[in-house]
Amino acid sequence: MLYFDNRLLRELPGDDDTRNHPRQVRGALWSAVMPTPVAAPRLFAHSREMAQQLGVDEHDLASPPWVEALAGNALLPGMAAYATCYGGHQFGNWARQLGDGRAIFLGETINGAGERFELQLKGAGPTPYSRRADGRAVLRSSIREFLCSEAMYHLGVPTTRALSLVATGEAVVRDMFYDGHPVEEPGAVVCRVAPSFIRFGHFELPASRGDEALLRQLVDFTIARDFPDLAAAPDERLGRWFVEICERTARLMVHWMRVGFVHGVMNTDNMSVLGLTIDYGPYGWVDNFDPAWTPNTTDADGRRYCFARQPEIARWNLERLAEALAVIAPEAGELVLGLAHYDDVYAREFRRAFAAKFGFAAWRDEDAGLIEDVFGLLQQAEVDMTLFFRLLAAIDVEAPDLDILQEAFYRQELFERHAGDFVAWLQRWAARVRSEGEPALARVARMNLVNPRYVLRNCLAQQAIDRAQQGDLAMIHELHEVLRKPYQDQPGREAFAARRPEWARHKAGCSMLSCSS
Ligand code: AMP
Ligand code: MG
Repeated sequence: MLYFDNRLLRELPGDDDTRNHPRQVRGALWSAVMPTPVAAPRLFAHSREMAQQLGVDEHDLASPPWVEALAGNALLPGMAAYATCYGGHQFGNWARQLGDGRAIFLGETINGAGERFELQLKGAGPTPYSRRADGRAVLRSSIREFLCSEAMYHLGVPTTRALSLVATGEAVVRDMFYDGHPVEEPGAVVCRVAPSFIRFGHFELPASRGDEALLRQLVDFTIARDFPDLAAAPDERLGRWFVEICERTARLMVHWMRVGFVHGVMNTDNMSVLGLTIDYGPYGWVDNFDPAWTPNTTDADGRRYCFARQPEIARWNLERLAEALAVIAPEAGELVLGLAHYDDVYAREFRRAFAAKFGFAAWRDEDAGLIEDVFGLLQQAEVDMTLFFRLLAAIDVEAPDLDILQEAFYRQELFERHAGDFVAWLQRWAARVRSEGEPALARVARMNLVNPRYVLRNCLAQQAIDRAQQGDLAMIHELHEVLRKPYQDQPGREAFAARRPEWARHKAGCSMLSCSS
């Protein structure tokens, strides 16, 4: 049995209207709403680490009372069901009230170590924030969220977690590419877990409505519950808190760039104040290194949220948060420091991460040119990012051999065309590494701790989805298992580390996704 302490409900104002119909919610931060029961819930997958951390026995999790709760059919003792109110900037424009349109909280639980977690069902039916949508999620996007959030955790990237993936036994209708072809798809519910799901948009909405009292209440609550170290220091608390959010966001962006993750929809309502990766939608993983790549078809024209622009967009989002907080800031200057801090932390952590990826003991100023040059080459020659870094570690710096990297190239013709440039670059890189005088074994071990062997390539997720839709869950479980040790070579699992097959280059789900999940 879990212990629940539903502090958000207790300390923040809720909506007086308790009926479940779409509406504008003012003067409140949450609305009570029950999940809509589903026909035939089945537990497709669960995270044993997450269950353990919460203090739930794995067998209990698979028992009917838990599966019913994880499907939204019943509440366990202590749970409370509600959705929260937030706004957001979507694709650069203020979108007014959004809110948890298809996420319903089950409350806050505290584990034996005193850690607090919010539990949230994604896809559990309509809420007052659903506008005209159904509040549901399809199996394909739920598999993607379940596998990717767990994979990110094991990669060491801050993220919300997934406790469970439950198929509902009900169909959901989706027009996957918004082109007038709606189809019925199997539905699912993911139980997500995080210390806090509070987003930038939670602050933007009351600020946009001039509701200073509500904004102040939410800031005080968030600092007290989610940033207790800051709560004790009343002086310049708002500014210090914003600096902390900027720092966490900068670190998160470096992680995404390090592992080749593209979120796809970095709207301000999808930005966590804890600096967690949140809201897995049309995300993707970089196969061939392409700074302009985006998995999101909705963003194909503007490429606002493409791989290379993520750090810049995160900063833009922080500026929107700063504007919202400025409504209650005693001094405007307080928030400027945070943005400068973002730039500093991003630059510093990027250098640290990429020095490690390239095998340098520490960053030197002259490394910038070396790295820029290889980024250009990787792009022109269509080289796989994950394989490139992993194979680089295998190169003997006394006698660099380009053939070792061949597996990372998508086109033989481009390999041949750029071979000379790569050989020249490898000579420079090898000389740089040799100048450290570090034993190769130590360097290789360090590189392999930051350069994953296994990531959730889009085509892998899609294959697991295709098979699950035929009733075969084996690949979901196998992927989940492989991605628990992303930095270790796993004999027999080479297929999961291979570059994207040619059939997947332009296939829906593999290189193109929409928000329609
Ligand atoms: P997203 O782009 O998934 O972060 O969603 C943006 C907004 O649309 C949020 O307020 C979501 O809750 C809402 N939303 C997305 N899909 C649905 C859905 N199927 N039903 C209700 N609301 C949704
Ligand atoms: Mg969202």
